[in-house]
Amino acid sequence: MTMNEDLIMAVEFHGHLCPGIAYGVRAAQIAIKELIEKRAEDEEIVAIVENDSCAVDAIQALTGCTFGKGNLIFKDYGKQVYTFIKRPSGEAIRIALTWEPPPETPEEQCLWQRHMKGDISPEVIKCIQERKTKKVNLIMEVAESELFTVDKFTTILPKTARIFPSIKCAMCGEKVMEPRSRVKNRQIVCLPCFEDE
Ligand SMILES: [Zn+2]
Ligand SMILES: [Zn+2]
Repeated sequence: MTMNEDLIMAVEFHGHLCPGIAYGVRAAQIAIKELIEKRAEDEEIVAIVENDSCAVDAIQALTGCTFGKGNLIFKDYGKQVYTFIKRPSGEAIRIALTWEPPPETPEEQCLWQRHMKGDISPEVIKCIQERKTKKVNLIMEVAESELFTVDKFTTILPKTARIFPSIKCAMCGEKVMEPRSRVKNRQIVCLPCFEDE
């Protein structure tokens, strides 16, 4: 197992080792090499992720692009695509997963089916673990050019995170950011109260 430093860091943040984390580490490593390491001190990196899977935790742990800082943007496209943009230059890199893992053996498929049906016998668990480890190893070792399609370009920057005033919801009394508020029965309310029948 090639537990390199990046993988260890991502696993510490994420809580477990899985194929998703391995994909995220590989994508983050490209962004670091191509964009982040070559950045000037006053330049910032923005990541746009097109899924919210395990891989995104590796992106957050390794690149420093996080939800809280506002430099991680989630687009719910269900795609393994990661775009990193340098601010203010707009220099960007788009990393799209194109690799197909090798097909599983009939035994692996059979044991996986049993696991999906709730079989947690030692034999099945051991096989599932081995299958995961095997896949992580493959992802960590496959050539970058086989794993991803990488495009470099210059783009228009996404808007920076803005701070909005907050308003007290007339129903629950909790504070809500102004652009997220709604009007219900002529009162300003938060979204959960608005949607609550
Ligand atoms: Zn995971
Ligand atoms: Zn409310």
